[in-house]
Amino acid sequence: MTAKIIDGKAFANNLVSDLAKKVKILESKYQFKPGLAVVLVGNNPASEVYVKNKIKQTENSGMVSIEHRLPETTSQKELLNLITELNLDNSIDGILVQLPLPKQINENAVINTISAEKDVDGFNIINAGLLATGGDGLIPCTPLGCLLLLQDYLKDLTGKNAVIIGRSNIVGKPMAQLLTQSHCTVTIAHSKTINLENLCKNADIIIAAVGRPKFVQGEWIKKGAIVIDVGINRLPPVEGENGKGKLVGDVDFERASKNASAITPVPGGVGPMTIACLLKNTVTAACKRRKIDLT
Ligand code: NDP
Repeated sequence: MTAKIIDGKAFANNLVSDLAKKVKILESKYQFKPGLAVVLVGNNPASEVYVKNKIKQTENSGMVSIEHRLPETTSQKELLNLITELNLDNSIDGILVQLPLPKQINENAVINTISAEKDVDGFNIINAGLLATGGDGLIPCTPLGCLLLLQDYLKDLTGKNAVIIGRSNIVGKPMAQLLTQSHCTVTIAHSKTINLENLCKNADIIIAAVGRPKFVQGEWIKKGAIVIDVGINRLPPVEGENGKGKLVGDVDFERASKNASAITPVPGGVGPMTIACLLKNTVTAACKRRKIDLT
């Protein structure tokens, strides 16, 4: 078997085109463009790249993005003051604070200061609680992107045996909630899990969110399983790569492709879906706050 490659980039492009149409309706019928505030503290090079991409995509979809760049030495109080201002600013529909933050700032304090209705990353305790209890909150972008890809490929997830490797608050845990709501039987694996290989061998769906290059072996994949690779790992550069190493996921893509029925590539799989879902959440937040129904 050779797996179908799930083209996250193409799916994300379609999603963004649909969102751009909605943004046009909001502009013509309701006289506003959704606004996303992106806050970057310090000069983490990876964060700079993520923020640049998020801003570019936001603007490409016709929305307004407002960038706030703060120095590495910013205090927690200064950052919380900015978030409070953005919470009160009526032109801002979504607030994204790029993580990680410098060590003097408590990430949870920041995440939980963002108003739940503008929390387009879906990380704060109110949105996490709503997701856990089946409520209608904003859903973390990466798991939401994974779910959309799975729903598109499988149509119905009912009864599938899903193994999620990783239990972070931003990927693994919300992914488990979403798959449970989709009627999967869910196992969450982590660094203390015993015999991960056997768990994987029984999985119809594997979500790998570990942060270790090619960690999931090809032989662990059951014939016909669907593999969603969330990991983004940069390998050390080899000669001729202009100083930048290759990007790989958490799954041994080549070998896993021989057993899986479908698999996401890295890059071009979950990554573009994360940004598209950020834009989706911003439009959702803008509509909800103004009680507009565009469905
Ligand atoms: P975290 O580091 O927060 O979590 C990693 C998880 O992997 C932890 O739960 C950890 O277990 C588990 N783990 C580590 N080692 C093992 C092991 N040997 N066996 C089983 N489980 C293990 O990472 P994130 O969830 O934030 O991100 C995961 C990956 O996804 C990273 O590569 C990240 O770059 C990528 N990512 C990609 C995004 C995208 O848009 N495509 C968005 C977000 C993340 P324990 O809890 O026990 O420590």
